[in-house]
Amino acid sequence: MAVQQVFPLSCAVQHYAWGKMGSNSEVARLLASSDPQARISEDKPYAELWMGSHPRGDAKILDNRISQKTLGQWISENQDCLGSKVKDTFNGKLPFLFKVLSVETALSIQAHPNKELAEKLHLQAPQHYPDANHKPEMAIALTSFQGLCGFRPVEEIVTFLTKVPELRFLIGDNATAQLKGSTSSDSQVAASALQSCFSHLMKSEKNVVVEQLSLLVKRISQQAAAGNNMEDICGELLLQLHQQYPGDIGCFAIYFLNLLTLKPGEAMFLEANVPHAYLKGGGSWPSG
Ligand SMILES: [Zn+2]
Repeated sequence: MAVQQVFPLSCAVQHYAWGKMGSNSEVARLLASSDPQARISEDKPYAELWMGSHPRGDAKILDNRISQKTLGQWISENQDCLGSKVKDTFNGKLPFLFKVLSVETALSIQAHPNKELAEKLHLQAPQHYPDANHKPEMAIALTSFQGLCGFRPVEEIVTFLTKVPELRFLIGDNATAQLKGSTSSDSQVAASALQSCFSHLMKSEKNVVVEQLSLLVKRISQQAAAGNNMEDICGELLLQLHQQYPGDIGCFAIYFLNLLTLKPGEAMFLEANVPHAYLKGGGSWPSG
């Protein structure tokens, strides 16, 4: 008899603290609709649904005519399903994880190494970098979804440095002037000016960051209360992030990275080395 190739799965769920709660979460709803045995706890966050055979979340097979209990076991006994190229390159393992995320509070900023760097890090410190492969990522919005992706054009950052003196204070006059002067230069000069600004920000003393952030929060709140629109400095988002992560330097990242709001069906691709952060909403993540 031919091997049965199509069968229902119950996918693993990750209850990370940043996920949406209970049945408000896209992840919980998908789990409930695919697995009749699943019980949703309303007081638990349902952050990620993993469709794949990852060792920390191997999907269960919901068909008792199949002898294997999980997708990982099934693949290891039916290696041809991967195709010869993938089977040989990835030692008979599925090199792909499809995730659905449901985000209530913002995640930290990340960038993933390219293949070359991933191999090097894995060789140097396999305990911290268990994977020698790169991890290109694509996010597709299932609901309205907000995220940060890649550096903004220099002109936009320069505008924020003018309109947000609290940010300029952290970056300093020299680095600010360097970035302003780089707008008409070649991209190499602009890139190094940008690098200098960003590292000034990231190396700021914690107490100075807290102080400048609280000045900014106060200013935005007062202006908003007086009926002034603060959207030109992403006022609402800044207040929201500061409420989630009071005093955190990451709040200032919105002035360096492109802010995207995806509509359902829209996607963003996150290449190696591109800084990104997911802020709010539900999306699905096929990742390599
Ligand atoms: Zn990522």
